[in-house]
Amino acid sequence: MFLKIENKKLICKIKYKKIRHAYLRITPDYHLDIILPNNGKLSAETLLKEKRNWLRRKVREIENSVRLFDEKSVYYKGKKYEIKVIIDKNSRIELSKNFLKIYKSKRRKTENMILEFLADETLEYVSKKAGEFSERLELFPKQVSIKKLKSFGHCTRDGKIFFNSKLICLPTKLIDYVVCHELIHLKHFNHSKKFKSELAKILPDYKELEKQLKKYYWS
Ligand SMILES: [Zn+2]
Repeated sequence: MFLKIENKKLICKIKYKKIRHAYLRITPDYHLDIILPNNGKLSAETLLKEKRNWLRRKVREIENSVRLFDEKSVYYKGKKYEIKVIIDKNSRIELSKNFLKIYKSKRRKTENMILEFLADETLEYVSKKAGEFSERLELFPKQVSIKKLKSFGHCTRDGKIFFNSKLICLPTKLIDYVVCHELIHLKHFNHSKKFKSELAKILPDYKELEKQLKKYYWS
């Protein structure tokens, strides 16, 4: 089933689940999941009609979004680099002016090498930043690590912080925002007023940063 929104063709899939409220989920490559409660009370048509404006907004958001990583290029600290593969016995990655140069044997997978590189760089950066912000906020996590995540970051109730292993793709001021955000969750486990005022102490322009963060999509 297809649906046309803002001149974009969405590929729709209907799923029935044991849930109370229906919801929609849209991916950056324009796949739309329509998840309905299995009591049969709500039709996909009705839901789509109700959510028309939300869908329009989402499609526009995707159209204006920045893809951080694809086969041709990758972002590093907010700057776009073209991927260049060079066959070499000595596997390594080098950043030059506009290129991310990947030296590798024929056997090694380019994507895996890039993901490893991004993960290493991310861990190094967020560990250093978390250390700096911890001192200022007087909030100390039990552990700082990276993980394959769909979100930017994640904080557990027992004081561990995880960051998306591709976070290094973002401009550094946005990475800093994510680090700060997760650290403050050690004290406030929600996005309450107290949480926000704490955030504003360190990053007075946090609202603008949140807006910018929305432009980025992991792919
Ligand atoms: Zn949060």
